[in-house]
Amino acid sequence: MTTYQNFIRGEWLKSSASKSAPNVNPANTDDVIGDIPLATREEARRAVEAAAEAFAKWRSTPAPTRGRIVAQAARLLEKNKEELAQTLTREEGKTIAESRGELQRSINVAEFCAGESRRLTGETIPSELPLNFAYTIKQPLGVVACVTPWNFPVAIPVWKIAPALVAGNTVVFKPATLTPATATRIVELFEEAGIPPGVLNLILGSGSEAGEEIINHPAVKAVSFTGSNGVGIRLYEQASRRGAKVQCEMGGKNPVVILEDCDIDLAVESTVQGAFGSTGQRCTATSRAVVVNQIADEFVQRIAKRAQSMRIGAGVDPQTEMGPSVDENQFKTVLRYIDVGREDGATMVCGGERVTGDGFDKGYFVQPTLFDHVTPDMRIAREEIFGPVLSVLRVKDFDEAMQVANDSEFGLSSSIFTNDASRIFRFVDDIETGMTHINSPTTGGEAHIPFGGIKGTGIGDREQGSTALDFYTDLKVVYVDYTGRKREGNLY
Ligand code: NDP
Repeated sequence: MTTYQNFIRGEWLKSSASKSAPNVNPANTDDVIGDIPLATREEARRAVEAAAEAFAKWRSTPAPTRGRIVAQAARLLEKNKEELAQTLTREEGKTIAESRGELQRSINVAEFCAGESRRLTGETIPSELPLNFAYTIKQPLGVVACVTPWNFPVAIPVWKIAPALVAGNTVVFKPATLTPATATRIVELFEEAGIPPGVLNLILGSGSEAGEEIINHPAVKAVSFTGSNGVGIRLYEQASRRGAKVQCEMGGKNPVVILEDCDIDLAVESTVQGAFGSTGQRCTATSRAVVVNQIADEFVQRIAKRAQSMRIGAGVDPQTEMGPSVDENQFKTVLRYIDVGREDGATMVCGGERVTGDGFDKGYFVQPTLFDHVTPDMRIAREEIFGPVLSVLRVKDFDEAMQVANDSEFGLSSSIFTNDASRIFRFVDDIETGMTHINSPTTGGEAHIPFGGIKGTGIGDREQGSTALDFYTDLKVVYVDYTGRKREGNLY
Protein backbone atom coordinates (compact mmCIF):
# COMPACT_ATOMS: atom_id res chain seq x y z
CA MET A 1 0.00 0.00 0.00
CA THR A 2 1.37 3.41 -0.99
CA THR A 3 1.70 6.32 1.39
CA TYR A 4 1.48 9.39 -0.81
CA GLN A 5 3.89 12.29 -0.44
CA ASN A 6 3.90 15.97 -1.21
CA PHE A 7 6.22 17.36 -3.87
CA ILE A 8 7.81 20.60 -2.76
CA ARG A 9 10.85 22.37 -4.25
CA GLY A 10 11.67 19.32 -6.40
CA GLU A 11 11.58 16.82 -3.52
CA TRP A 12 9.10 14.14 -2.53
CA LEU A 13 8.48 14.75 1.15
CA LYS A 14 6.74 12.63 3.74
CA SER A 15 3.99 14.65 5.35
CA SER A 16 4.01 15.32 9.08
CA ALA A 17 0.20 15.22 9.04
CA SER A 18 -1.64 13.69 11.95
CA LYS A 19 -4.74 13.06 9.83
CA SER A 20 -4.96 10.77 6.83
CA ALA A 21 -7.53 9.30 4.43
CA PRO A 22 -7.54 5.98 2.59
CA ASN A 23 -7.52 5.78 -1.19
CA VAL A 24 -10.14 3.14 -1.94
CA ASN A 25 -11.22 1.40 -5.15
CA PRO A 26 -14.93 2.33 -5.48
CA ALA A 27 -15.66 -0.91 -7.34
CA ASN A 28 -14.34 -2.97 -4.43
CA THR A 29 -13.81 -1.30 -1.08
CA ASP A 30 -11.60 -4.19 0.09
CA ASP A 31 -9.03 -2.88 -2.36
CA VAL A 32 -7.31 -0.11 -0.40
CA ILE A 33 -4.81 1.42 -2.78
CA GLY A 34 -3.01 3.81 -0.49
CA ASP A 35 -2.98 6.15 2.43
CA ILE A 36 -3.11 9.93 2.01
CA PRO A 37 -1.61 11.93 4.86
CA LEU A 38 -3.61 15.18 4.73
CA ALA A 39 -1.01 17.92 4.35
CA THR A 40 -0.77 20.48 7.11
CA ARG A 41 -1.27 24.20 6.61
CA GLU A 42 2.45 24.63 7.17
CA GLU A 43 3.24 22.21 4.32
CA ALA A 44 0.83 24.06 2.05
CA ARG A 45 2.57 27.34 2.88
CA ARG A 46 5.96 25.79 2.12
CA ALA A 47 4.74 24.70 -1.29
CA VAL A 48 3.60 28.25 -2.09
CA GLU A 49 6.92 29.65 -0.89
CA ALA A 50 8.83 27.17 -3.06
CA ALA A 51 6.77 28.23 -6.08
CA ALA A 52 7.31 31.92 -5.29
CA GLU A 53 11.09 31.43 -5.09
CA ALA A 54 11.20 29.51 -8.37
CA PHE A 55 9.18 32.12 -10.27
CA ALA A 56 11.89 34.62 -11.29
CA LYS A 57 14.03 32.01 -13.03
CA TRP A 58 11.12 30.20 -14.68
CA ARG A 59 9.63 33.50 -15.87
CA SER A 60 12.87 34.36 -17.66
CA THR A 61 13.24 30.90 -19.22
CA PRO A 62 12.31 31.29 -22.92
CA ALA A 63 8.75 30.19 -23.57
CA PRO A 64 9.78 27.59 -26.21
CA THR A 65 12.11 26.02 -23.64
CA ARG A 66 9.25 25.83 -21.16
CA GLY A 67 7.12 24.36 -23.94
CA ARG A 68 9.74 21.70 -24.65
CA ILE A 69 9.40 20.39 -21.09
CA VAL A 70 5.62 20.26 -21.47
CA ALA A 71 6.07 18.45 -24.80
CA GLN A 72 8.30 15.92 -23.05
CA ALA A 73 5.61 15.48 -20.37
CA ALA A 74 3.15 14.76 -23.20
CA ARG A 75 5.47 12.07 -24.55
CA LEU A 76 5.80 10.54 -21.08
CA LEU A 77 2.03 10.55 -20.64
CA GLU A 78 1.84 8.70 -23.95
CA LYS A 79 4.51 6.22 -22.89
CA ASN A 80 2.78 5.54 -19.56
CA LYS A 81 -0.74 5.78 -20.93
CA GLU A 82 -1.90 2.27 -20.14
CA GLU A 83 -0.46 2.20 -16.61
CA LEU A 84 -2.06 5.57 -15.85
CA ALA A 85 -5.39 4.46 -17.33
CA GLN A 86 -5.39 1.38 -15.09
CA THR A 87 -4.59 3.54 -12.04
CA LEU A 88 -7.35 5.97 -12.97
CA THR A 89 -9.92 3.18 -13.29
CA ARG A 90 -8.83 1.67 -10.00
CA GLU A 91 -9.06 4.85 -7.96
CA GLU A 92 -11.92 6.69 -9.67
CA GLY A 93 -14.01 3.82 -11.02
CA LYS A 94 -14.62 4.83 -14.64
CA THR A 95 -14.40 2.15 -17.31
CA ILE A 96 -11.02 1.37 -18.79
CA ALA A 97 -12.14 2.68 -22.19
CA GLU A 98 -13.16 5.97 -20.56
CA SER A 99 -9.81 6.15 -18.74
CA ARG A 100 -7.91 5.59 -21.98
CA GLY A 101 -9.99 8.33 -23.56
CA GLU A 102 -9.17 10.70 -20.69
CA LEU A 103 -5.47 9.92 -21.05
CA GLN A 104 -5.59 10.65 -24.77
CA ARG A 105 -7.33 13.96 -24.09
CA SER A 106 -4.58 14.82 -21.57
CA ILE A 107 -1.83 14.00 -24.09
CA ASN A 108 -3.57 16.13 -26.71
CA VAL A 109 -3.89 19.05 -24.30
CA ALA A 110 -0.21 18.87 -23.29
CA GLU A 111 0.85 18.70 -26.94
CA PHE A 112 -1.36 21.64 -27.82
CA CYS A 113 -0.02 23.76 -24.94
CA ALA A 114 3.58 22.90 -25.82
CA GLY A 115 2.91 24.28 -29.31
CA GLU A 116 1.41 27.43 -27.83
CA SER A 117 4.79 28.18 -26.26
CA ARG A 118 5.94 29.28 -29.73
CA ARG A 119 2.87 31.43 -30.23
CA LEU A 120 2.95 33.49 -27.04
CA THR A 121 2.55 36.54 -29.20
CA GLY A 122 1.08 39.99 -28.69
CA GLU A 123 -0.22 42.56 -31.15
CA THR A 124 1.50 45.40 -32.97
CA ILE A 125 -0.87 48.36 -33.12
CA PRO A 126 -0.46 51.48 -35.28
CA SER A 127 -0.64 54.79 -33.42
CA GLU A 128 -2.73 57.91 -34.01
CA LEU A 129 0.57 59.78 -34.03
CA PRO A 130 3.32 59.75 -36.63
CA LEU A 131 6.53 57.92 -35.69
CA ASN A 132 4.74 56.08 -32.91
CA PHE A 133 3.37 52.60 -32.50
CA ALA A 134 2.26 50.36 -29.67
CA TYR A 135 2.52 46.66 -28.98
CA THR A 136 1.32 44.19 -26.37
CA ILE A 137 3.14 41.41 -24.59
CA LYS A 138 1.80 38.57 -22.49
CA GLN A 139 3.48 38.01 -19.17
CA PRO A 140 3.07 35.37 -16.48
CA LEU A 141 1.21 36.12 -13.25
CA GLY A 142 3.42 34.46 -10.65
CA VAL A 143 2.32 31.58 -8.43
CA VAL A 144 -0.87 29.93 -9.64
CA ALA A 145 -2.95 27.47 -7.60
CA CYS A 146 -4.60 24.67 -9.58
CA VAL A 147 -7.42 23.12 -7.54
CA THR A 148 -9.04 20.15 -9.23
CA PRO A 149 -11.90 17.63 -8.77
CA TRP A 150 -11.82 13.83 -8.79
CA ASN A 151 -13.94 13.13 -11.86
CA PHE A 152 -11.28 13.84 -14.50
CA PRO A 153 -8.23 13.53 -12.28
CA VAL A 154 -5.72 13.39 -15.14
CA ALA A 155 -7.22 15.60 -17.84
CA ILE A 156 -8.28 18.56 -15.68
CA PRO A 157 -4.92 18.89 -13.88
CA VAL A 158 -3.10 18.67 -17.22
CA TRP A 159 -5.36 21.27 -18.83
CA LYS A 160 -4.54 23.68 -16.00
CA ILE A 161 -0.88 22.86 -15.28
CA ALA A 162 0.32 22.74 -18.90
CA PRO A 163 -0.87 26.24 -19.93
CA ALA A 164 0.13 27.71 -16.56
CA LEU A 165 3.70 26.45 -17.02
CA VAL A 166 3.98 27.36 -20.68
CA ALA A 167 2.91 30.91 -19.80
CA GLY A 168 5.77 31.11 -17.29
CA ASN A 169 3.92 30.70 -13.99
CA THR A 170 4.92 28.42 -11.16
CA VAL A 171 2.25 26.10 -9.83
CA VAL A 172 0.90 24.67 -6.60
CA PHE A 173 -1.34 21.77 -7.55
CA LYS A 174 -4.03 20.72 -5.06
CA PRO A 175 -5.92 17.72 -6.47
CA ALA A 176 -9.05 16.15 -5.00
CA THR A 177 -8.34 14.02 -1.97
CA LEU A 178 -10.12 11.10 -3.64
CA THR A 179 -7.59 10.79 -6.47
CA PRO A 180 -4.03 11.05 -5.12
CA ALA A 181 -2.51 8.24 -7.19
CA THR A 182 -3.16 9.83 -10.57
CA ALA A 183 -2.14 13.26 -9.23
CA THR A 184 1.15 11.82 -8.01
CA ARG A 185 1.87 10.13 -11.34
CA ILE A 186 1.20 13.33 -13.29
CA VAL A 187 3.70 15.25 -11.16
CA GLU A 188 6.24 12.42 -11.39
CA LEU A 189 6.02 12.58 -15.18
CA PHE A 190 6.52 16.36 -15.22
CA GLU A 191 9.50 15.85 -12.91
CA GLU A 192 10.91 13.24 -15.30
CA ALA A 193 10.29 15.66 -18.16
CA GLY A 194 12.68 18.10 -16.52
CA ILE A 195 10.58 20.61 -14.63
CA PRO A 196 12.96 22.62 -12.40
CA PRO A 197 12.60 22.42 -8.59
CA GLY A 198 9.81 24.59 -7.20
CA VAL A 199 8.15 25.23 -10.56
CA LEU A 200 5.50 22.55 -9.99
CA ASN A 201 4.53 21.57 -6.43
CA LEU A 202 1.96 19.05 -5.25
CA ILE A 203 0.00 19.25 -2.01
CA LEU A 204 -2.21 16.32 -1.08
CA GLY A 205 -4.50 17.60 1.60
CA SER A 206 -8.07 18.44 2.39
CA GLY A 207 -9.70 21.36 0.63
CA SER A 208 -10.86 22.94 3.86
CA GLU A 209 -7.34 23.07 5.36
CA ALA A 210 -4.47 22.78 2.87
CA GLY A 211 -6.70 24.06 0.03
CA GLU A 212 -7.80 27.16 1.94
CA GLU A 213 -4.26 27.86 3.05
CA ILE A 214 -3.09 27.87 -0.57
CA ILE A 215 -5.85 29.98 -2.03
CA ASN A 216 -5.60 32.55 0.75
CA HIS A 217 -1.83 32.88 0.57
CA PRO A 218 -0.85 36.39 -0.56
CA ALA A 219 1.86 35.03 -2.90
CA VAL A 220 -0.77 33.14 -4.92
CA LYS A 221 -1.67 35.51 -7.74
CA ALA A 222 -4.30 33.35 -9.41
CA VAL A 223 -6.52 30.37 -8.64
CA SER A 224 -7.84 28.05 -11.33
CA PHE A 225 -10.59 25.91 -9.85
CA THR A 226 -12.82 23.17 -11.19
CA GLY A 227 -15.38 21.63 -8.89
CA SER A 228 -18.73 22.16 -7.24
CA ASN A 229 -20.59 25.46 -7.05
CA GLY A 230 -20.59 25.56 -3.26
CA VAL A 231 -16.81 25.35 -3.02
CA GLY A 232 -16.15 27.42 -6.14
CA ILE A 233 -18.20 30.44 -5.11
CA ARG A 234 -16.68 30.46 -1.63
CA LEU A 235 -13.19 30.18 -3.06
CA TYR A 236 -13.95 32.94 -5.58
CA GLU A 237 -15.14 35.27 -2.80
CA GLN A 238 -12.05 34.62 -0.71
CA ALA A 239 -9.41 34.85 -3.41
CA SER A 240 -10.91 37.77 -5.34
CA ARG A 241 -11.32 39.78 -2.11
CA ARG A 242 -7.55 40.04 -1.90
CA GLY A 243 -7.25 40.83 -5.60
CA ALA A 244 -6.22 37.42 -6.91
CA LYS A 245 -7.38 36.42 -10.37
CA VAL A 246 -9.89 33.55 -10.23
CA GLN A 247 -11.26 31.13 -12.80
CA CYS A 248 -14.01 28.71 -11.72
CA GLU A 249 -15.54 25.92 -13.79
CA MET A 250 -18.40 24.46 -11.79
CA GLY A 251 -21.55 22.37 -12.03
CA GLY A 252 -23.95 21.61 -14.85
CA LYS A 253 -27.53 20.50 -15.47
CA ASN A 254 -27.15 19.87 -19.15
CA PRO A 255 -30.22 19.52 -21.37
CA VAL A 256 -30.67 17.55 -24.55
CA VAL A 257 -33.60 18.70 -26.70
CA ILE A 258 -35.29 15.95 -28.69
CA LEU A 259 -37.55 17.05 -31.54
CA GLU A 260 -40.07 14.92 -33.45
CA ASP A 261 -38.08 14.83 -36.72
CA CYS A 262 -34.86 13.55 -35.18
CA ASP A 263 -33.07 10.31 -35.98
CA ILE A 264 -34.44 8.49 -32.95
CA ASP A 265 -31.81 5.72 -32.95
CA LEU A 266 -29.07 8.33 -32.82
CA ALA A 267 -30.89 10.40 -30.20
CA VAL A 268 -31.40 7.38 -27.91
CA GLU A 269 -27.84 6.07 -28.17
CA SER A 270 -26.33 9.53 -27.72
CA THR A 271 -28.54 10.35 -24.74
CA VAL A 272 -27.63 7.05 -23.05
CA GLN A 273 -23.97 7.83 -23.66
CA GLY A 274 -24.34 11.38 -22.33
CA ALA A 275 -26.39 10.46 -19.28
CA PHE A 276 -24.84 7.22 -18.08
CA GLY A 277 -21.29 7.41 -19.50
CA SER A 278 -18.70 7.92 -16.72
CA THR A 279 -21.58 6.96 -14.38
CA GLY A 280 -23.06 10.43 -14.92
CA GLN A 281 -20.08 11.91 -13.11
CA ARG A 282 -19.19 14.40 -15.81
CA CYS A 283 -19.79 18.11 -15.55
CA THR A 284 -21.15 17.87 -19.10
CA ALA A 285 -23.33 14.78 -18.43
CA THR A 286 -26.83 14.87 -19.89
CA SER A 287 -29.18 15.14 -16.94
CA ARG A 288 -32.33 16.57 -18.55
CA ALA A 289 -33.98 15.25 -21.72
CA VAL A 290 -36.46 17.82 -22.98
CA VAL A 291 -38.67 15.84 -25.37
CA VAL A 292 -41.61 16.92 -27.51
CA ASN A 293 -44.81 15.01 -26.69
CA GLN A 294 -45.09 13.47 -30.17
CA ILE A 295 -42.15 11.14 -29.63
CA ALA A 296 -41.84 11.15 -25.84
CA ASP A 297 -43.42 7.70 -25.28
CA GLU A 298 -41.15 6.04 -27.81
CA PHE A 299 -38.06 7.88 -26.55
CA VAL A 300 -38.70 6.96 -22.90
CA GLN A 301 -39.41 3.33 -23.70
CA ARG A 302 -36.25 3.00 -25.80
CA ILE A 303 -33.99 4.75 -23.30
CA ALA A 304 -35.33 2.47 -20.55
CA LYS A 305 -34.68 -0.63 -22.63
CA ARG A 306 -31.14 0.47 -23.36
CA ALA A 307 -30.47 1.52 -19.73
CA GLN A 308 -31.69 -1.82 -18.41
CA SER A 309 -29.38 -3.68 -20.76
CA MET A 310 -26.28 -1.76 -19.69
CA ARG A 311 -23.51 -3.87 -18.30
CA ILE A 312 -22.57 -2.52 -14.89
CA GLY A 313 -19.40 -3.56 -13.11
CA ALA A 314 -15.81 -2.85 -12.27
CA GLY A 315 -14.29 -0.56 -14.87
CA VAL A 316 -11.27 -2.78 -15.30
CA ASP A 317 -13.44 -5.37 -17.12
CA PRO A 318 -13.41 -4.27 -20.79
CA GLN A 319 -17.04 -5.43 -21.16
CA THR A 320 -18.26 -3.00 -18.49
CA GLU A 321 -20.33 -0.09 -19.80
CA MET A 322 -20.84 1.71 -16.49
CA GLY A 323 -18.74 1.72 -13.33
CA PRO A 324 -19.53 2.72 -9.73
CA SER A 325 -20.04 6.09 -8.07
CA VAL A 326 -16.71 7.42 -6.86
CA ASP A 327 -17.25 6.99 -3.11
CA GLU A 328 -19.80 6.43 -0.38
CA ASN A 329 -20.76 10.12 -0.20
CA GLN A 330 -21.45 10.40 -3.91
CA PHE A 331 -23.27 7.06 -3.88
CA LYS A 332 -25.53 8.21 -1.02
CA THR A 333 -26.14 11.55 -2.73
CA VAL A 334 -27.35 9.77 -5.86
CA LEU A 335 -29.67 7.46 -3.89
CA ARG A 336 -31.00 10.45 -1.92
CA TYR A 337 -31.83 12.32 -5.14
CA ILE A 338 -33.61 9.24 -6.44
CA ASP A 339 -35.79 9.34 -3.29
CA VAL A 340 -36.37 13.06 -3.81
CA GLY A 341 -37.51 12.39 -7.39
CA ARG A 342 -40.02 9.79 -6.19
CA GLU A 343 -41.27 12.03 -3.37
CA ASP A 344 -41.69 14.99 -5.72
CA GLY A 345 -43.97 12.88 -7.93
CA ALA A 346 -41.80 12.04 -10.93
CA THR A 347 -42.48 8.67 -12.58
CA MET A 348 -39.68 6.18 -12.05
CA VAL A 349 -39.34 4.24 -15.31
CA CYS A 350 -36.31 2.10 -14.53
CA GLY A 351 -33.39 1.76 -12.14
CA GLY A 352 -33.51 3.59 -8.86
CA GLU A 353 -31.71 1.00 -6.75
CA ARG A 354 -28.30 0.04 -5.56
CA VAL A 355 -26.92 -2.90 -7.53
CA THR A 356 -26.47 -5.81 -5.15
CA GLY A 357 -25.38 -9.42 -5.28
CA ASP A 358 -22.30 -11.21 -6.35
CA GLY A 359 -19.36 -8.83 -6.77
CA PHE A 360 -21.47 -5.70 -6.24
CA ASP A 361 -21.92 -5.48 -2.47
CA LYS A 362 -18.41 -4.16 -1.97
CA GLY A 363 -18.80 -1.40 -4.55
CA TYR A 364 -20.84 1.79 -4.93
CA PHE A 365 -22.98 0.69 -7.85
CA VAL A 366 -26.28 2.38 -8.69
CA GLN A 367 -28.57 1.29 -11.54
CA PRO A 368 -28.94 3.68 -14.48
CA THR A 369 -32.11 5.50 -13.52
CA LEU A 370 -34.78 7.12 -15.67
CA PHE A 371 -37.51 9.45 -14.43
CA ASP A 372 -40.37 10.53 -16.69
CA HIS A 373 -42.94 13.33 -16.28
CA VAL A 374 -40.43 15.46 -14.46
CA THR A 375 -41.51 19.09 -14.16
CA PRO A 376 -39.12 22.05 -14.28
CA ASP A 377 -39.70 22.93 -10.63
CA MET A 378 -38.68 19.51 -9.28
CA ARG A 379 -35.32 19.30 -7.54
CA ILE A 380 -34.14 16.50 -9.84
CA ALA A 381 -34.65 18.92 -12.76
CA ARG A 382 -32.79 21.76 -11.08
CA GLU A 383 -29.92 20.41 -8.98
CA GLU A 384 -26.77 18.67 -10.12
CA ILE A 385 -26.90 15.01 -9.04
CA PHE A 386 -23.61 13.81 -10.52
CA GLY A 387 -24.81 10.25 -10.99
CA PRO A 388 -26.56 8.03 -13.55
CA VAL A 389 -29.97 9.70 -13.29
CA LEU A 390 -31.80 11.10 -16.32
CA SER A 391 -34.96 13.21 -16.06
CA VAL A 392 -37.39 13.44 -18.98
CA LEU A 393 -39.32 16.70 -19.23
CA ARG A 394 -42.14 16.55 -21.79
CA VAL A 395 -42.96 19.69 -23.79
CA LYS A 396 -45.48 20.57 -26.49
CA ASP A 397 -43.16 22.13 -29.07
CA PHE A 398 -39.76 23.66 -29.88
CA ASP A 399 -40.54 27.00 -28.21
CA GLU A 400 -41.47 25.37 -24.95
CA ALA A 401 -38.40 23.11 -25.23
CA MET A 402 -36.17 26.21 -25.43
CA GLN A 403 -37.85 27.75 -22.42
CA VAL A 404 -37.49 24.58 -20.33
CA ALA A 405 -33.90 23.93 -21.47
CA ASN A 406 -32.90 27.47 -20.44
CA ASP A 407 -34.70 27.29 -17.10
CA SER A 408 -31.57 26.49 -15.11
CA GLU A 409 -29.05 28.33 -12.99
CA PHE A 410 -26.29 26.40 -14.80
CA GLY A 411 -25.01 26.99 -18.32
CA LEU A 412 -22.35 24.46 -19.25
CA SER A 413 -23.38 22.23 -22.16
CA SER A 414 -26.42 21.25 -24.21
CA SER A 415 -27.42 19.40 -27.34
CA ILE A 416 -30.27 19.08 -29.82
CA PHE A 417 -31.48 16.22 -31.99
CA THR A 418 -33.32 17.32 -35.12
CA ASN A 419 -32.73 17.49 -38.85
CA ASP A 420 -34.37 20.89 -39.21
CA ALA A 421 -31.65 23.43 -40.01
CA SER A 422 -33.77 26.40 -38.99
CA ARG A 423 -34.48 25.02 -35.53
CA ILE A 424 -30.83 23.96 -35.14
CA PHE A 425 -29.65 27.52 -35.68
CA ARG A 426 -32.39 29.04 -33.51
CA PHE A 427 -31.29 26.62 -30.80
CA VAL A 428 -27.64 27.66 -31.22
CA ASP A 429 -28.65 31.34 -31.04
CA ASP A 430 -30.79 31.06 -27.93
CA ILE A 431 -29.51 28.21 -25.78
CA GLU A 432 -27.87 29.58 -22.64
CA THR A 433 -24.84 27.30 -22.38
CA GLY A 434 -21.14 27.82 -23.01
CA MET A 435 -20.93 24.80 -25.30
CA THR A 436 -23.56 23.13 -27.46
CA HIS A 437 -23.69 20.06 -29.67
CA ILE A 438 -25.77 19.32 -32.74
CA ASN A 439 -26.97 15.72 -33.10
CA SER A 440 -24.36 14.46 -30.62
CA PRO A 441 -24.19 14.08 -26.83
CA THR A 442 -23.74 16.99 -24.41
CA THR A 443 -20.39 15.50 -23.44
CA GLY A 444 -17.00 15.63 -25.08
CA GLY A 445 -14.52 18.25 -26.12
CA GLU A 446 -11.26 18.63 -27.97
CA ALA A 447 -7.91 19.86 -26.75
CA HIS A 448 -7.64 22.77 -29.18
CA ILE A 449 -11.19 24.06 -28.64
CA PRO A 450 -12.19 26.34 -25.73
CA PHE A 451 -14.10 24.63 -22.92
CA GLY A 452 -16.38 26.07 -20.25
CA GLY A 453 -19.72 27.38 -19.18
CA ILE A 454 -21.75 30.53 -18.61
CA LYS A 455 -24.40 31.55 -16.03
CA GLY A 456 -23.83 29.77 -12.69
CA THR A 457 -21.29 27.37 -14.22
CA GLY A 458 -18.36 29.55 -15.14
CA ILE A 459 -16.43 32.51 -13.81
CA GLY A 460 -13.44 33.95 -15.65
CA ASP A 461 -11.62 33.07 -18.86
CA ARG A 462 -12.36 29.88 -20.76
CA GLU A 463 -9.94 26.99 -20.47
CA GLN A 464 -8.24 25.15 -23.36
CA GLY A 465 -7.97 25.95 -27.04
CA SER A 466 -7.24 29.45 -28.27
CA THR A 467 -8.22 30.82 -24.84
CA ALA A 468 -6.10 28.39 -22.78
CA LEU A 469 -3.36 30.90 -21.93
CA ASP A 470 -5.57 33.96 -21.40
CA PHE A 471 -6.16 33.26 -17.73
CA TYR A 472 -2.50 32.57 -17.04
CA THR A 473 -1.13 35.77 -18.54
CA ASP A 474 -1.29 39.49 -17.94
CA LEU A 475 -1.34 41.78 -20.93
CA LYS A 476 1.18 44.62 -20.96
CA VAL A 477 0.77 47.50 -23.42
CA VAL A 478 3.92 49.24 -24.63
CA TYR A 479 3.86 52.69 -26.32
CA VAL A 480 6.88 53.44 -28.49
CA ASP A 481 7.62 57.01 -29.54
CA TYR A 482 10.56 57.43 -31.91
CA THR A 483 10.01 61.09 -32.81
CA GLY A 484 12.64 62.19 -30.28
CA ARG A 485 10.44 65.25 -29.58
CA LYS A 486 8.11 66.42 -26.82
CA ARG A 487 4.56 65.33 -27.58
CA GLU A 488 2.26 68.03 -29.00
CA GLY A 489 -0.97 66.44 -30.15
CA ASN A 490 -2.88 63.73 -28.28
CA LEU A 491 -2.29 64.89 -24.71
CA TYR A 492 -5.11 62.83 -23.14
P1 NDP B 1 -15.46 19.90 -4.91
O1 NDP B 1 -15.92 21.28 -5.14
O2 NDP B 1 -15.92 19.20 -3.72
O3 NDP B 1 -13.85 19.86 -4.86
C1 NDP B 1 -13.04 20.35 -5.89
C2 NDP B 1 -11.66 20.64 -5.34
O4 NDP B 1 -11.73 21.72 -4.40
C3 NDP B 1 -11.04 19.47 -4.56
O5 NDP B 1 -9.65 19.45 -4.78
C4 NDP B 1 -11.35 19.85 -3.12
O6 NDP B 1 -10.51 19.23 -2.18
C5 NDP B 1 -11.11 21.34 -3.18
N1 NDP B 1 -11.69 22.10 -2.08
C6 NDP B 1 -12.77 21.77 -1.32
N2 NDP B 1 -13.00 22.74 -0.39
C7 NDP B 1 -12.04 23.70 -0.59
C8 NDP B 1 -11.75 24.92 0.04
N3 NDP B 1 -12.48 25.38 1.05
N4 NDP B 1 -10.70 25.64 -0.41
C9 NDP B 1 -9.95 25.21 -1.43
N5 NDP B 1 -10.17 24.03 -2.06
C10 NDP B 1 -11.22 23.29 -1.66
O7 NDP B 1 -15.81 19.10 -6.25
P2 NDP B 1 -15.67 17.55 -6.55
O8 NDP B 1 -14.25 17.14 -6.40
O9 NDP B 1 -16.71 16.83 -5.77
O10 NDP B 1 -16.01 17.48 -8.12
C11 NDP B 1 -17.29 17.41 -8.63
C12 NDP B 1 -17.77 18.78 -9.11
O11 NDP B 1 -16.89 19.29 -10.09
C13 NDP B 1 -19.13 18.74 -9.77
O12 NDP B 1 -19.93 19.79 -9.31
C14 NDP B 1 -18.82 18.95 -11.25
O13 NDP B 1 -19.87 19.52 -11.98
C15 NDP B 1 -17.65 19.85 -11.17
N6 NDP B 1 -16.88 19.80 -12.43
C16 NDP B 1 -16.99 20.87 -13.30
C17 NDP B 1 -16.34 20.85 -14.53
C18 NDP B 1 -16.44 22.02 -15.46
O14 NDP B 1 -15.59 22.14 -16.33
N7 NDP B 1 -17.44 22.88 -15.35
C19 NDP B 1 -15.53 19.69 -14.94
C20 NDP B 1 -15.49 18.63 -13.96
C21 NDP B 1 -16.16 18.71 -12.74
P3 NDP B 1 -11.00 17.89 -1.42
O15 NDP B 1 -11.07 16.84 -2.44
O16 NDP B 1 -9.94 17.65 -0.43
O17 NDP B 1 -12.34 18.22 -0.82
